[in-house]
Amino acid sequence: MAHSTGETRVYLVGAGPGDPGLLTLKGRAAIERADVLVYDRLVSPRLLGYARPDCELVYVGKTPDHHTLPQHKINALLVKKALAGNVVVRLKGGDPFVFGRGGEEAEELRDHGLPYEVVPGVTSAIAAPAYAGIPVTHRDAASSFTVITGHERDGKGNSAIPWGQVARLKGTLVFLMGMENLPRIVDNLVGHGMDPATPAAVVRYGTWPMQRTVCAPLASLEERVGEEGIENPAVIVVGQVAALRERLSWAERKPLFGKTVVVTRARHQASALASSLEERGAQVLEFPAIEIAPPTDPRPLAEAVAGIEAYHWVVFTSANGVDAFFAEAAAQHLDARCLAGVEVAAIGTGTQAALAAHGITQVQVAREFCAEGLAGLLADKVRAGERVLIARAEEARDVLPRALEEQGAQVSDVAAYRTRAVAEGAEALAAALSAGDVDAVTFTSSSTVTNLLACLGGPTLLEGADLYSIGPVTTETLRAAGLEPRAQAAEYTIAGLVAALVDSQEGELL
Ligand code: SAH
Repeated sequence: MAHSTGETRVYLVGAGPGDPGLLTLKGRAAIERADVLVYDRLVSPRLLGYARPDCELVYVGKTPDHHTLPQHKINALLVKKALAGNVVVRLKGGDPFVFGRGGEEAEELRDHGLPYEVVPGVTSAIAAPAYAGIPVTHRDAASSFTVITGHERDGKGNSAIPWGQVARLKGTLVFLMGMENLPRIVDNLVGHGMDPATPAAVVRYGTWPMQRTVCAPLASLEERVGEEGIENPAVIVVGQVAALRERLSWAERKPLFGKTVVVTRARHQASALASSLEERGAQVLEFPAIEIAPPTDPRPLAEAVAGIEAYHWVVFTSANGVDAFFAEAAAQHLDARCLAGVEVAAIGTGTQAALAAHGITQVQVAREFCAEGLAGLLADKVRAGERVLIARAEEARDVLPRALEEQGAQVSDVAAYRTRAVAEGAEALAAALSAGDVDAVTFTSSSTVTNLLACLGGPTLLEGADLYSIGPVTTETLRAAGLEPRAQAAEYTIAGLVAALVDSQEGELL
């Protein structure tokens, strides 16, 4: 049998506390290898994206009606899948051995002779306070920290927690699973002699974009938590370190912290915009409103590539155009050398990067995301009579070819690809918009406007959100639909768009 070879069949992997960046490299490698991935509720959905497309995903967390798969069934599932010859990854929130019942799962595997490995994770007991600006130890404030279950039903008499000792520890106390028992925890601590004025905090969804923190002296913690409506999943931190938050808070001070921002982009395209917004603390809803498809008529591109040496210039307006051009070249058994005698121009640093990936680095680049910018740049470079190939989207505007023709160039405007609307995810987005859960919607091109409107069935749902436009052309498209952007990027780039969002948040705070 497969398991008798000693090869690891099951990995007990800590997923970290929520922020997908807090998964370990070893954890990621295990997920990438998995045939079966068994995961919990507090695992970031992003991590599932590391699994192979054919990996079987099994959710064993709490469902909305509060049913969970009982532990013995999870154990049996792991054994069954592993015995069937699969590489099984059991992905658990935080660290698998910190109140995660990972120990029981390991015992079960051992009993069946199934080799396993444990990949520790970043536990919420440390990370949630850290993201709230609370170090669990501090030279001046705490020389130990104790992680305690708050789940004990029976607070009186036969508690497994030695409250008398715990209340005298002086170090930091961190309670997990304690929200339902918060009043009893506070009573036990104060009842056993802890100062009711001891600083304390509750951190909900620590390290997630929806993190919330409440800080109060121990005696009034419950009241403050009630006022703020803070529930599970949360950690309770008790000790002098909780007071450091006032000075050390950082994640919650990010400019877009607590904001939900919609990013519309093409599927399969790395989203620099999404990661830049996340770095600034935003929760990003990615909506792939457009999809890249081959042009309706592929022949003009094929002919242009075949006769490329007849051109003086090739102009690319997007990374998609670059990729489509080189895909066609490859299909004709050509490589980057086909551009040896041709000048290359590009709009935007993303387009420049796509060219560099194909070995083309000597490029005239217009940094601005608009055809006018490139036309201006090329005005004194392209000479009358020169032949220019523009490889771009089928639905692109005529500004660039017109401007070049006015300079006397012979322009071939060729559709290298086509963008089309995809409705996938539209319902969820519509629901989030009508529930008022969306703070901002970003638009990086006219086609993202047109396609999003098509998916949402019109502009109505967008009227309640703040809209941000990358530049004048995109703004015009919004206005044509009766929508006024809250702001337009000053510099027509992704960085400019992010800056527009950040600036308008700062405006709000004033
Ligand atoms: N193995 C996990 C803990 C599992 S017990 C770990 O190491 O983090 C589940 C409890 O963990 C929750 O009730 C809550 O108290 C805590 N928890 C998990 N993720 C959390 C988060 N992101 N923020 C705050 N508390 C969290």
